[in-house]
Amino acid sequence: MPRTKIVATIGPACDSPELLRALIDAGVSVARLNASHTSRDDLARRLSAVRAAAERAGRHVAVMLDLGGPKLRLGEVRDGTVLVPGERFSLLTGACLGDSRHACVTYANLPMDVPDGARLLIDDGRIELRVTERHDDALITEIVTGGPLGSHKGVNVPSVRLGVDAITEKDREDLAWGLDAGVDLVAQSFVRSADDVQRLRALMGDRPVPIVAKIEKHEAVSAIDEIIAAADAVMVARGDLGVETATEQVPVVQRRIVAACRAAGRPVIIATQMLESMTVSKRPTRAEASDVANAIFDEVDAVMLSGETAVGAYPAEAVAMMARIATVAEESLSGRATVAPVHGGRDDVTLAVSSAVSELACDLSLAAIVTATQSGATALAVAAHRPRTPIVAVTPLVAVARRLAVVWGVTPLVVAQHGTIDEMLVHAIAAVKDAGHASAGEMVALTGGVSVGVPGTTNLLQVTRV
Ligand code: PGA
Ligand code: MN
Repeated sequence: MPRTKIVATIGPACDSPELLRALIDAGVSVARLNASHTSRDDLARRLSAVRAAAERAGRHVAVMLDLGGPKLRLGEVRDGTVLVPGERFSLLTGACLGDSRHACVTYANLPMDVPDGARLLIDDGRIELRVTERHDDALITEIVTGGPLGSHKGVNVPSVRLGVDAITEKDREDLAWGLDAGVDLVAQSFVRSADDVQRLRALMGDRPVPIVAKIEKHEAVSAIDEIIAAADAVMVARGDLGVETATEQVPVVQRRIVAACRAAGRPVIIATQMLESMTVSKRPTRAEASDVANAIFDEVDAVMLSGETAVGAYPAEAVAMMARIATVAEESLSGRATVAPVHGGRDDVTLAVSSAVSELACDLSLAAIVTATQSGATALAVAAHRPRTPIVAVTPLVAVARRLAVVWGVTPLVVAQHGTIDEMLVHAIAAVKDAGHASAGEMVALTGGVSVGVPGTTNLLQVTRV
C-alpha cells in the first residue's frame, strides 16, 4: 500500500459487496458518501456496506459524509433544451419547467445579489450567461456560450459574494443523520470563511467529528490560512474551484493550499478528475498519471476519486491504478528528506516529541515509529514530518483509528486501554509485532504520554528492540 491515502466516492457503481471489498483491498482507506446526489436510504445502505466490507477486510476505513452545501442549481428543464448564443435567457426564482428561453433557480435572492454585467456559469462552466437586466423575481441574461441544458445543473457566479447561507436546511438534516449513523469525517462544501467551519462545528454539539473544509470558492482561497486553522483537514475541490475561479488558476491555487496545509501540519486531500478518463476507460491518460504523481511528489495526505469509482465502469481498476502510481512515485522519493520539519513553536511538548522522533528515524534503522495516541494528534504531528519510516498509531479508540485513515503514512492499530505507561508500552509493542509491523530483534521508536488515556500529554520517547 502506498503511504498516500486514497479516498473513493461510493456510488451506484459500488453497490456489490465484492466490489466494495475489492476497492478496500486495492487501497481505499476513506469512503466518501456524497449527500448531494444520494437519497437517505442509499446513504444508509452504503454506509453499512462499507462497514461490513471493512470489517471483512480487517481494515479501518473512514466514512466521510460530504454535505452538499449551498450549491445553486437549476430546476427541471424540458428534455432536449439547447441554448443559442446571442439569445435572451431568463433565470426565474419561482418553480417552473425550463426551456430554451428561461429556467428556474434554487436561490430566491439571486437577482438581488448579482450585479449587472455579471457572468453566470452553468453545468461546470459549459454554458455562460451575462446579466443584462435585473428584476425582483428574475435575472435577464444574454447567452454567451450556449449548448444543451439539462435539469438540476449547477449554477456558479464567479467573483460575486452571494448572501446564501453556508449551511442549508438539507445540510443540517444530513449532518444529524450522519452523526447518528456514526460517520467518521464530515466534508463541508463551498466553505467561504473560518466562521462557516465554526458554525458547522457548533451544530455538532457534543458529538464533534473532524471537518474537512472543501476549498472551491474564491472567497475561501482568500481566507485560506484562517480556514486551515479552523478545519481539521482541507480538500482542494478542483471541480467547482475551476468554475468559481478559472481553470488556469486551479494549479496555482492547489500549490498554495498544499504548501499552507503542509506548513500547518493539516491533512490535505486533492480531489476531482484525478483519473477522470477511467470513468469510461480501463487506462488513464498519461496526463492524469502525472497529475496523481505530482500530488504525491507534493506529499499530500490523500488523493481522491469521484465519478471514477461512484459511477464509473472500472472502479476497482481506478483505485488499483491510483495505488500503483502513488507507490511508484513514493519510491522515487525514498531516501530523500523532502520536507522541512514543522515546528509548533516553543513549549509544545507533543510537537517537539513528534519532531524529535522523526529526526531520530533518519539516524536509526527503525522498523516503525509507534505512536500511542488518544486523540490521534501525536500520529498527525509525526506524519507532518513525512518520515520514511512507517508510522503505526496505537489507540484504544476505533473512531480515532478511522479518522487517521485520511492522514499520510499512518497505519492505525486498535489495542485495549491500559492503566499505566509501562503496561501501555509493553502492549503497544506486542500489538505492533502481532500485526507484522516489526519482527523480534528489530528496533522501534515509541512515543506516549505518562498520563495514559489523557489526550494531548505525549511527553515520552523511547527506542527499544522488539
Ligand atoms: P463535489 O466537490 O464533487 O461535491 O462538487 C468536489 C469538487 O467540486 O471538485
Ligand atoms: Mn464541489
